[in-house]
Amino acid sequence: MESVHSKKEDCSGCSACYNTCPTNAICMKADEEGFLYPVIDQALCVDCNNCVNVCPLTQDGNYKNENIPEILVAKHKSEEVLLKSTSGGIFTAISDAILGEGGVVYGAEYDDEFHVLHKRAENYEQRNSMRISKYVQSNMGEIFQEVEKDLVDNKKVLFTGTPCQIAGLKAFIGHSSLAYNLYLCDLICHSIPSPLVWEDYKTLLEKEYGGRLTSVKFRTKEIDWSRENSKKAFLFTTSQSEQVHNDTRFYKLFLEEKTIMRPSCEKCRFTDIHRASDITIADYWGIEKYAPEWMDKKGVSIILINNQKGEELLRKCNDEVKYEKRPKEEALTEQQRLSEPVKFPEGRNKFWEDYGKYGFEYIIEQLDK
Ligand SMILES: Cc1cc2nc3c(=O)[nH]c(=O)nc-3n(C[C@H](O)[C@H](O)[C@H](O)COP(=O)(O)OP(=O)(O)OC[C@H]3O[C@@H](n4cnc5c(N)ncnc54)[C@H](O)[C@@H]3O)c2cc1C
Repeated sequence: MESVHSKKEDCSGCSACYNTCPTNAICMKADEEGFLYPVIDQALCVDCNNCVNVCPLTQDGNYKNENIPEILVAKHKSEEVLLKSTSGGIFTAISDAILGEGGVVYGAEYDDEFHVLHKRAENYEQRNSMRISKYVQSNMGEIFQEVEKDLVDNKKVLFTGTPCQIAGLKAFIGHSSLAYNLYLCDLICHSIPSPLVWEDYKTLLEKEYGGRLTSVKFRTKEIDWSRENSKKAFLFTTSQSEQVHNDTRFYKLFLEEKTIMRPSCEKCRFTDIHRASDITIADYWGIEKYAPEWMDKKGVSIILINNQKGEELLRKCNDEVKYEKRPKEEALTEQQRLSEPVKFPEGRNKFWEDYGKYGFEYIIEQLDK
């Protein structure tokens, strides 16, 4: 097998192929934009085709639920949880339920140097590191194999991630009886930024502010929850400065310039009201217009209940979460990613050419002009 995918836009980097290969012939390598793609070692490849067959993008598998989900407005009853979450704290509620039944939780967290990667949690403390959105593509490593092992060991598993990561795991596990104990939670996903840009951004902040980064916080509730503030709330500290700093240049590249996202995001097959997951969580944007009594500066969530398992998951946290049914039109109006992928600007290629030629600091200088 020469390659798993023919075009970059046909690979979301979910790593299902890497986790599937029976001869370890595949490694995930970063390209010049910093996104991971499978590379096949021809000397080890036995042409079994498993990598192509498991791919949720090239094999247009039937991963989505057929029914229209039930739409809910929701928030965690604990103010402390709201303040430690991006939106209405629903991830904490559903992961509490699974951990409380002796299960395990998978999600994205930072390592010591603020790289983003998917990890496994078997207690509340480990799970807490997964809270809060990190707007950088997470490295999946061998996480699908860890999930499989937990399912073989008869553990309940909650796996959280972007819609393409969920589709990848679903394809990897397949329709076997193992899927019985697997609960899938995705996010409504705007698109996913480059780990290389994130690395260069962190280096720039350290250069400008001195010392090593000691904390980074996207979407922190130190700044009130609102759609407008979601483009501003990024705070960080460094070892040489006691002050908390705010910087919005990464958000600007991500949400305004739209230049730093993975090529597959523009062709995303999961920007659909029919989801691949059991339950979908996101921000309830616009709630102040539709149901002002629900507006809370500490955060409000939208939940899509995609099937019976999603319903079951929500039922498990009935005591912790307050929720109410809402019309699906609100979700479709406020959440573009339920109907169409992000559109890249015409200048995306030039952006990456300049990035390669002149480096990140040049890119930032252009942004400031
Ligand atoms: C890249 C990205 C794009 C998003 N786009 C939108 C959007 O367009 N509209 C919208 O309303 N909401 C979007 N969200 C979702 C939103 O930001 C919150 O993550 C969601 O509402 C959950 O909030 P919470 O309060 O329930 O949980 P929190 O406690 O904040 O839980 C965070 C959850 O997000 C997961 N997560 C964090 N970072 C990543 C990552 N890099 N990759 C995969 N999973 C991750 C964690 O595993 C955990 O399950 C996006 C999130 C991400 C990570």
